Amino acid sequence: MREQLFFFERQQDWKLRGKDTERFQPSLHISRKHPCSPIRHMSRRFPTRTHLNDLAQFNIGAYVKNIDIYIKGKIVRASLKKSVAIIGAGPGGLTAARVLQMKGIAVRVFEADASTNARDQGGTLDLHLDTGQYALERAELIEPFRAIARYEDQETRVLDFATAGPLFEEIPEPGEGDRPEIDRKVLRDLLLNSLDTDTVVWGAKLRELISEADGRHRLRLGDEATEPYDLVIGADGAWSKVRAALTDAKPVYTGVTFIELWLDDVDQSHPEIARMIGHGTMFALHGGQGLVAQRNGNGHLRIYACLHSKDGCAAEQGLNPAEPIALRRKLVQLFSGWSPRLLALIEQGLDVAFVRPIVAMPADFGWKHVPGLTLVGDAAHVMPPVGLGVNLAMLDAVELAYQLSEQQNWDEATARFETKMMRRAAHEAEAAAKAFADMFGVDGHRTALEHMHARRRSVELPPKLDSRSAAR
Ligand SMILES: Cc1cc2nc3c(=O)[nH]c(=O)nc-3n(C[C@H](O)[C@H](O)[C@H](O)COP(=O)(O)OP(=O)(O)OC[C@H]3O[C@@H](n4cnc5c(N)ncnc54)[C@H](O)[C@@H]3O)c2cc1C
Repeated sequence: MREQLFFFERQQDWKLRGKDTERFQPSLHISRKHPCSPIRHMSRRFPTRTHLNDLAQFNIGAYVKNIDIYIKGKIVRASLKKSVAIIGAGPGGLTAARVLQMKGIAVRVFEADASTNARDQGGTLDLHLDTGQYALERAELIEPFRAIARYEDQETRVLDFATAGPLFEEIPEPGEGDRPEIDRKVLRDLLLNSLDTDTVVWGAKLRELISEADGRHRLRLGDEATEPYDLVIGADGAWSKVRAALTDAKPVYTGVTFIELWLDDVDQSHPEIARMIGHGTMFALHGGQGLVAQRNGNGHLRIYACLHSKDGCAAEQGLNPAEPIALRRKLVQLFSGWSPRLLALIEQGLDVAFVRPIVAMPADFGWKHVPGLTLVGDAAHVMPPVGLGVNLAMLDAVELAYQLSEQQNWDEATARFETKMMRRAAHEAEAAAKAFADMFGVDGHRTALEHMHARRRSVELPPKLDSRSAAR
């Protein structure tokens, strides 16, 4: 019965979802209210058979959070509108917001970027059936995703570094392949458009969390602090500020840095490169270095020149993004002995270069549960990029949001989510760290080939989305 006493308030129209409330003789005690409200405290015993929907007539406002209902002399605290603050409007934060909002939970997302177009969002992503796509299914967004995902860009090629000849090719037939691609910006827009207007507060960088005595937290964004939130979800990426409130642990540099270059209009302007890459991702690995190229939407290509760099200080090696021409010249020098066809990826690249030192949390990273705070995605378990990060961030997000929507006790719900998520992350992070170290070890191309062959074998037994869904 306790679970049935689940209230929510929308535009001061109060409703009780649940069983026959006519049997109750409730009394109401408003125990928390907005400081501006003229109502300080209100206690009231209702006449027999008062329906709880009639609470609307008392117009007790949008800021009342809890009421105590006395049923047969017993007190039941019902939460009217617990609130969630999500820090970060990346794939993890927005997926969590979408599901919470679907479930009628009040949620605000605070994002440091000034707007959705404030910076480049990164390249293309393949969403996996049992993680990213599963999350979209749970977020009731799988159909719109399917309508815009690039099923035609699922090819994979491993090329020989010296000849650019194919060592491995995986080219699904039309209609085959279960890891469609989507550009990060397109995915972000899909999630953003699914939210109520004004859910995301842009230009809101979290600077500090202020703990309240009751376990809630206020956010210090600039000079001012927000109202307290019942739960703060840190979806703020690798350098999470929320994580800093839970632990001193920080991501560690892997020793490998990615220099990102772009090519536009690849089919028309760079047809040879377009043919070499095909419709998907190309890897060439040798001696601890790699060139990886990924076809994005609209004929755009992202190239990652991957190399070992001391302390991630690529600038000290002459790889300064502020001097793109010198940077490209230096890269060609560092990749000497590689096929000229592959080097064309560097030479023909646009004057855009991001230097991305690759960092990861230790695989066994965890934290002691703190009421009112939790983490999802890279904030909880940033890993080397082996095609998993967004998928796991979105899976974390739906699992947490469903736990919160299904349980009254958010502390227990969050702790349960963390236990499951940390166990999964530890397993995946260990595998990711090994795969990444192998790829950028001396025998990298062999590892990539083994991985591709293993993946091909696993493709023979695709996981079934429906049965996985039913099992969770
Ligand atoms: C080169 C590269 C390639 C990758 N390729 C893939 C791939 O193909 N497939 C895949 O699944 N994963 C890939 N990843 C990993 C993937 O990018 C991450 O795992 C994923 O973005 C994590 O999502 P998230 O929502 O947890 O965090 P993020 O995407 O990092 O989002 C965090 C958000 O929080 C905001 N923020 C940060 N600090 C604050 C603050 N203090 N206050 C407010 N807002 C804040 C940021 O601006 C950002 O919008 C790749 C990573 C790299 C580096």
